[in-house]
Amino acid sequence: MIEQIKGINIAVEGCFHGNFDEIFGTIREIEKQKKIKIDLLLVCGDVQTHRNKHDMFNMACPVKYLQMGTFYKYYEGKERAPCLTIFIGGNHEASNYLREMYFGGWIAPNIYYLGDSNIIQIKKGNTTLKLGGTSGIFKIFDFNNPKLEQFPFKSEQLRSVYHSKQIDLYKLSLYEGEVNIFLSHDWPQQIHQYGSTKELLKKKQNFEPDIKSGRLGSQPHKFTLERLQPNFWFAAHMHVKFEAFVKHKSGKQTKFLALDKCLPGRDFLQVFTYTNEQKDLYDQFAYNDEPIELFYDPEWLSIVQTTYKLLTLWDKMPKLFEYNSALKELQIIKKDKFEEFLNEKHVRMKIFGNHKIKIPNNFEITSPPYDEQDTTNRLIPPKRV
Ligand code: 5GP
Ligand code: MN
Repeated sequence: MIEQIKGINIAVEGCFHGNFDEIFGTIREIEKQKKIKIDLLLVCGDVQTHRNKHDMFNMACPVKYLQMGTFYKYYEGKERAPCLTIFIGGNHEASNYLREMYFGGWIAPNIYYLGDSNIIQIKKGNTTLKLGGTSGIFKIFDFNNPKLEQFPFKSEQLRSVYHSKQIDLYKLSLYEGEVNIFLSHDWPQQIHQYGSTKELLKKKQNFEPDIKSGRLGSQPHKFTLERLQPNFWFAAHMHVKFEAFVKHKSGKQTKFLALDKCLPGRDFLQVFTYTNEQKDLYDQFAYNDEPIELFYDPEWLSIVQTTYKLLTLWDKMPKLFEYNSALKELQIIKKDKFEEFLNEKHVRMKIFGNHKIKIPNNFEITSPPYDEQDTTNRLIPPKRV
C-alpha cells in the first residue's frame, strides 16, 4: 500500500496575463491526469484582474495589448476558480483595484491578492505553511518616491503605482520568523549566480549586459532573500524558466524557481506538494481532502501596526535604506530607529499572542462588472493629466 502523504498540493504559475480560463483549465486537466486535487494556485504577477473597462484602462501597457480578459466572469460569480488562488501583482495590473487592496484581500471568490507586501499562514490538516510576497517591479527612481499615487492616477502614477517602495522592504525586514514560500514578480538581483547562467544566456542572450553589470533583477528582493531565507522563492517577469539553489551562510537553503508566461508550449506552470517534513519539489502528491484555510500571521499584523505611522507620513517619510556601493547591497539606515521598531513589534506580538485569526471570507462586489453587450469605445483609454 502506498503511504498516504499529508501535504498541500500546490501549482505555481509565472505571468498570468488575464488567462483565467486557460490556466484554470490546465489546473483541471492536471487534476484529471494525476488523479489529485490541487489545493492552491500561487501566481507570480501580471494577472490583469479587470472587473470592467475602467480597470482595464488603469493597467499600464501599450494600447494595442489592452484586452478585457475573462476576470470579470470570476468577479461576478459566473465562473469560479477551481482552487484557492493567491497572487501578487506585477507590472500589468488593474492597479486601481489592487491599490484598494493595499494590505491584501479577496478580489473575487476564491482569489486572494496578497497586497503590496504580506505574510500569511496557510493550513490544511496538520500541514502549515507561511507564505510571503511582495508586488511590483523595482525601479530605483521610484523606490523612495514621496508622491503617493491617488485616484485618478496621473499618467506617471499609472507606472509608479507598481514600482517597489522602501516601506514594503522595511516591513519585510522587520520579520524575524520563518517564511516557507515567498513570491515576487521580478527576480532577486544576482540570483542567476546560483543556477546555470550558461543555460539562461542560451535562452535569453539579451540578458548578457545586465548579467555582466550585475544589474539583472531587483536589489530589494536580494535583501529580502538574504534576510528571510525562505525554503522556496517563486518569481516570473523574465519570461523564462530558471532554477537556482541558494545556500545561505546560516546553513538554510532556498530553492528558487522562475516560470514563464502563459503561452502554449511554454514552462508557465509547476506542480508540487508541500509537506511539513520534506520541503522540496517532488512528483508525489497528497490525497487528503481536508479544507485549506487562511490565517493572518500575528508577527506580520504586529509589523503592519508598528509601521502604520510611517505610511501616514508618506511624503515626509525619511530614507530607510542606503546603497553601499563597496558591498553592492542595500543597508538599513539608522539601526537604532530600526531596533525601536523591532521592540515595538515585540510588544504588539505579545498582544496578538498565538491567536489564530482566520482571514474572513468577506468578498464583495464593489464595482459594476463588465457588460458583455457594451462594445462602445472598447479600446479608447480616457485622457490623463
Ligand atoms: P512584461 O511582460 O512585464 O511587459 O515584460 C517582461 C519582459 O521584459 C521579458 O521579456 C523580460 O525578459 C524583459 N525584462 C524584464 N526585466 C529585464 C531586465 O532587467 N533586463 C532585460 N534584459 N530584460 C528584462
Ligand atoms: Mn512583468
